[in-house]
Amino acid sequence: MKVEFLGLNRQYRQLKNQLDCALQAVMARGAFILGPEVQRFEQSMASYLGVRDAIGLASGSDALLLSLMALGIKPGDEVITTTYSFFATASCITRLGAKPVFCDIDLRTFNLNPEEVKKKITGRTKALIPVHLYGNPCDMEGLSEIAGSHGLAIVEDSAQAIGAEYRGRKIGSFGVASCFSFYPTKNLGAYGDGGCVAVNDPELSERIRILRVHGAKKKYFHKFIGLNSRLDELQAAVLNVKLPQLDSWNQRRREIAIRYNKSFKGIFSIPESDPDVTHVYHMYVLLHHQRDTIRERLSELGVSTMIYYPQALHLQECFADLGWKSGDLPNSELACRENFALPIYPEMTDEEVDYVIESLLKIADELK
Ligand SMILES: *Cc1c(COP(=O)(O)O)cnc(C)c1O
Repeated sequence: MKVEFLGLNRQYRQLKNQLDCALQAVMARGAFILGPEVQRFEQSMASYLGVRDAIGLASGSDALLLSLMALGIKPGDEVITTTYSFFATASCITRLGAKPVFCDIDLRTFNLNPEEVKKKITGRTKALIPVHLYGNPCDMEGLSEIAGSHGLAIVEDSAQAIGAEYRGRKIGSFGVASCFSFYPTKNLGAYGDGGCVAVNDPELSERIRILRVHGAKKKYFHKFIGLNSRLDELQAAVLNVKLPQLDSWNQRRREIAIRYNKSFKGIFSIPESDPDVTHVYHMYVLLHHQRDTIRERLSELGVSTMIYYPQALHLQECFADLGWKSGDLPNSELACRENFALPIYPEMTDEEVDYVIESLLKIADELK
């Protein structure tokens, strides 16, 4: 048996008619930039997330960058974030000339530890970017308390956590801005790049709306120096078809994760989340000191795995001038060395899930 790491074509097969019609309708209509599909998607997304406004952008990376731009982050400012994330979480900070201050994770949840965050605050700290990694919501109460008492803005990197909940409320409004990605492999994936930012404050959302069209409130008259960063009309058409399915897809991811958890408990350290959150398992990640051997054996048995992430952000070559060294953020560095992600997507069959479990248990037995 062969289990692919992802099966994006399966989702297309399920929704083929609707998707084909939606895309053809856009082409027949002839409106390609900020047309009715984007408008409809923004409204559906805002109501899905329970926020005032959702602004469609070209990518999740731009959602982060535009949020920080709209907040006025500038050279000399510091922004605290996790070192264990995708690159865009930190590059949005350095792009604006500000300094990313990297923080270690809690190995149980892979997320920022509020106690560690507290230690990093200086007089120059302006914002905090927590990442709900792998779809697991951060300790937003702990982080909001710290942000509140130091006057910091929270910009959530929610790229992996669409549909996740913290204490019964959807991720999307715990920070002043919450950034989502529709990269094809995300839980809600477009057929190309796309992103959006959820905002409650009307002034902030107006600023982001202007910034995404080169800072022009009135066309050809530029109030700010913005970007060209819009959610594409064709991608919005895809997302409008898919959004109604998101909750059931996330539910299926959780079902698979529960089966993995039950099978691996006591053998591997299974991913943990707080009792009052709803995890959406963008990724299902385990740690093991013989990670490379395990991946090789799984691959021989036909099970594909991935590594998220092999290198922490504080040790990236492009950030060398920040002066970090190996050993500075040990939990994250250990996670980089030991993590491996198992296939988890809603279209996986029960047989495939069983086969992944059976294969990994067999390998664990061999390693004993
Ligand atoms: C995917 C991702 C992003 C960036 O989103 P893009 O749409 O690919 O630009 C940012 N942060 C995290 C944690 C992500 O997983």
